[in-house]
Amino acid sequence: MKGSIFIVSAPSGAGKTTLCRRLTDIVPRLVHSVSYTTRKPREGEVDGKDYFFVDEDAFMRMVGSGEFLEWAEVHGNLYGTSRTKLFEIIQEGVDVILDIDTQGAAQIRQRGVDATFVFVLPPSLEALSERLRSRKTDSEQVIARRLDRAREEISDYRLYDYVIVNDRLDVALNELGSVVQAKRLHISRIDHGWVKQTFGLKGDVS
Ligand code: ADP
Ligand code: 5GP
Repeated sequence: MKGSIFIVSAPSGAGKTTLCRRLTDIVPRLVHSVSYTTRKPREGEVDGKDYFFVDEDAFMRMVGSGEFLEWAEVHGNLYGTSRTKLFEIIQEGVDVILDIDTQGAAQIRQRGVDATFVFVLPPSLEALSERLRSRKTDSEQVIARRLDRAREEISDYRLYDYVIVNDRLDVALNELGSVVQAKRLHISRIDHGWVKQTFGLKGDVS
């Protein structure tokens, strides 16, 4: 059976990268999709692991060849999800988390891709601002731009299937894990052939 797709969006600084990375570290057969971006790497970020870092020309060539399932400009940089890489993962039966912004999530929704949409909220705008500063990766100018956009992004939360407030990290991690587990246990994901054979059911049980 093909893997499931989870879309996780949140305003920058809400903690979605932390949540997604921790979850993929502890849940088997769940990986984080690696996006392409024209943003410069932050200290400690690794090409091919955190992002595929490319220049604008290379990115726009990929746009031209239809390589992106979705792409968007976020905070002045371009970000996109490779169609090929994503489908390779789910063909293997592995579940995948896409940590993408609300514009990208809207494109995926419009395309009718079967996915579970999760929105992560910070507990408050003050906490969001504090987290952006504590990360020490962005200048004050960049932080101001990200905070400006936060309200706009948050206003899309109703379009998502699940909402998680990332106040205490361990609680939010458990909640995101529960969304993944619920999807895995859904009737649409069950191996009906196994049930039929194991319990000797007759006829069509689907
Ligand atoms: P995003 O990917 O949403 O932009 P990050 O995962 O980079 O956000 O988190 C932003 C900062 O907030 C990081 O320094 C991270 O360690 C911190 N952080 C994440 N979740 C929490 C939490 N629940 N409580 C306090 N700090 C957090
Ligand atoms: P950051 O630069 O902090 O890593 O990410 C900034 C924003 O870009 C975040 O909201 C993140 O979810 C979003 N983002 C990362 N990868 C993609 C992607 O492939 N597509 C889209 N649309 N947004 C992305």
